[in-house]
Amino acid sequence: MIDVRHVTKKFGEGATAVMALEDVSLIIPEGSFFTLLGPSGCGKTTLLRLIAGFELPSEGEIRLDGDSIGHLPPHKRPVNTVFQNYALFPHMSVARNIGFGLEMLKRPKTEIAATIEEMLDLVQLGAFAARRVDQLSGGQQQRVALARALAPRPKVLLLDEPLSALDLKLRKGMQSELKRLQAETGITFVFVTHDQSEALAMSDQIAVMSAGAVQQVGTPEDIYTAPQSRFVADFIGDTNIVTGELLGYDGPMAQIRFGEGRSLSVKTASATLVPGPVHVALRPETITICDAASDAALLIGTVRDATYFGAGSQMSIRLEDGTEIQAQVDRPSPAGTLVGLNCDSAMLQVLAD
Ligand code: ADP
Ligand code: MG
Repeated sequence: MIDVRHVTKKFGEGATAVMALEDVSLIIPEGSFFTLLGPSGCGKTTLLRLIAGFELPSEGEIRLDGDSIGHLPPHKRPVNTVFQNYALFPHMSVARNIGFGLEMLKRPKTEIAATIEEMLDLVQLGAFAARRVDQLSGGQQQRVALARALAPRPKVLLLDEPLSALDLKLRKGMQSELKRLQAETGITFVFVTHDQSEALAMSDQIAVMSAGAVQQVGTPEDIYTAPQSRFVADFIGDTNIVTGELLGYDGPMAQIRFGEGRSLSVKTASATLVPGPVHVALRPETITICDAASDAALLIGTVRDATYFGAGSQMSIRLEDGTEIQAQVDRPSPAGTLVGLNCDSAMLQVLAD
């Protein structure tokens, strides 16, 4: 496992200094598909470069299987990287590219040949061994880059937005391909993306990052159904954030009321909020529409418009306090209709901020 302990990385000094990472701690379990997810500039690449050894932390340390790797230069770490631009040798053959790292490590020729063979099979490029890399498609080059990075059998493979250069269809294919490669090799994959749907589809665990800090770590389901902060709720999927009144706590559950309605027991990311207005996350697909006068109505609003998207419609509703929210419905109500909104209280989450 990779143990990132209180790592801070500052670039430059004085007024122009940039805090790329600030006190980041993470445990990346051995053999997992682990994703760093966050918007551009939040420090994802910097964290990968620290694990790879291309940069050293300003503070803190990184351990691999219990041992500090801070003193090891990149080529001595059992870690390899797949770069966004692949960084292949365009004029060399596929086989040469895959074997290049092993040649540098001065491995025996027979071992190199056997590994190339095995890697070609793994990424399903057996027929292309002799082909020059600049004669391959983008997706095939991506496979060569993966094969080359896996050839020295690293314990950890770092992948920095490896799919961002591919078109949507190819990207979907490579997503399942990467999952398969990770499962077959058992190597720990640390995968970087700014695309939340990609992260949800691929990962065993996701660390959501923002502004140099880790906001939340969890399984895709944790992150989606129980976002802890407003940032995570906003960043992952379409989320409505509505205001409710916190009445108090009943054990681990928060007691919430919307408007003049009845109180509900709702899960919460924080057990220390003071009674009063709080933010509650509400997923569009968990909302059902009912009569505005019905006892089932948690919230009341006016339909603004609806957009058909094939599997249903996205209806936009303005609540009495002015908040615009989105609900996924089978049959939208006409604009101007006063509607009630209901939702299973188990699908609500009180945010920590
Ligand atoms: P991400 O990969 O999430 O887009 P980065 O890790 O590349 O983010 O960058 C995080 C922050 O650190 C950004 O503000 C970036 O400009 C800054 N940064 C990254 N590398 C350097 C560097 N070598 N020198 C100065 N600032 C840097
Ligand atoms: Mg980056």
